[in-house]
Amino acid sequence: MTTCVLIPGDGIGPEVCDAALRVLDAAGAGLRWERALAGSAALEAGGDSPLPEATVAAVREHRVALKGPCTTPVGGGFASVNVALRKRLDLYAAVRPVRNLPGVASRYEGVDLVIVRENTEGLYSGIENVITEGVVTSLKVATRRACRNIAEFALGYARSRGRRRVTAFHKANIMKLSDGLFLDCAREVFAGAEVELDERIIDAGCMKLVQDPGQFDVILCENFYGDVVSDLCAGLVGGLGVTPGANLGDEAAVFEAVHGSAPDIAGRDLANPLALLMSAVMLLNHLAEREGEAHFREVGAQIRAAYDAALRDDQKTRDIGGTLGTADFASAVIDRLS
Ligand code: NAD
Repeated sequence: MTTCVLIPGDGIGPEVCDAALRVLDAAGAGLRWERALAGSAALEAGGDSPLPEATVAAVREHRVALKGPCTTPVGGGFASVNVALRKRLDLYAAVRPVRNLPGVASRYEGVDLVIVRENTEGLYSGIENVITEGVVTSLKVATRRACRNIAEFALGYARSRGRRRVTAFHKANIMKLSDGLFLDCAREVFAGAEVELDERIIDAGCMKLVQDPGQFDVILCENFYGDVVSDLCAGLVGGLGVTPGANLGDEAAVFEAVHGSAPDIAGRDLANPLALLMSAVMLLNHLAEREGEAHFREVGAQIRAAYDAALRDDQKTRDIGGTLGTADFASAVIDRLS
């Protein structure tokens, strides 16, 4: 039996993880879960770090994890566990598919795009300095290695999924060195490739995204732009409750929704577990590729068909216009597994 690490996380994390696991079990995924703590949950359990070494070691060992969101204190306190995990495991590529779902109302139709976000550097380097009283700096780091890695990943991803165009969002007119390197690397990697590289200054790109998201295929971003653009794109198709994600590296993969720990609704059976369930389907497809096991892909397709059917039948959580709670939505999906 394949073992995956489960990191329930904070806030709505445990609720959406429970719901997703119920569906995976009912579909016969046949996975064994090793639970590991991270975030405030790790501190509350008596640990001295929000990212215990045992958690990092478990993901290294099993190479795949499903993760709920972890809270990051604002303006002080511990550094982001999410960012630390991505850096420690060199999960350099975040992949966030954004598409319209049946029965989920949104302002747009025909949205089917994928954000590929650099996950290890940029403004998330965490290098901040007090220069003098009232003056601070935050370093944006770009390395040729990471810029090339993410461009190569985006090209490989587009090729393997039959996608024709990758749009690089940048601000190289202002950040000539850092975004300049990001763009130069993308141009080098895409030179002569059959996949087209399109370049947009990020502000104009965001305007185009809200005018006509259907014109985008794959969007390639450095870390911070990828974070912001991910939530923007989630809003195009129904919100954070329906936007899954994967953090991929050469050694490990961690699947998590785009959303955070949503403290405003935590513990109230209000959270939409669909984004995490969709992330779990991405995990199954990853395992199918890694282990050459068609079973995982079949189970993933079954789950996808079941949640599409539930949404078509108007079985939805409140964030997308329904009335169901977290657990009842999971039950509605389970009822529709073939
Ligand atoms: P958030 O994504 O947690 O919530 C934003 C809004 O979306 C809230 O109104 C919330 O109720 C709603 N929402 C989010 N997920 C939902 C779901 N599944 N179903 C229904 N509604 C949902 O963003 P935030 O409030 O800015 O951040 C809260 C915490 O999460 C912060 O500590 C932040 O650092 C952390 N965070 C963690 C991750 C991660 O673990 N990868 C990602 C983003 C934010």
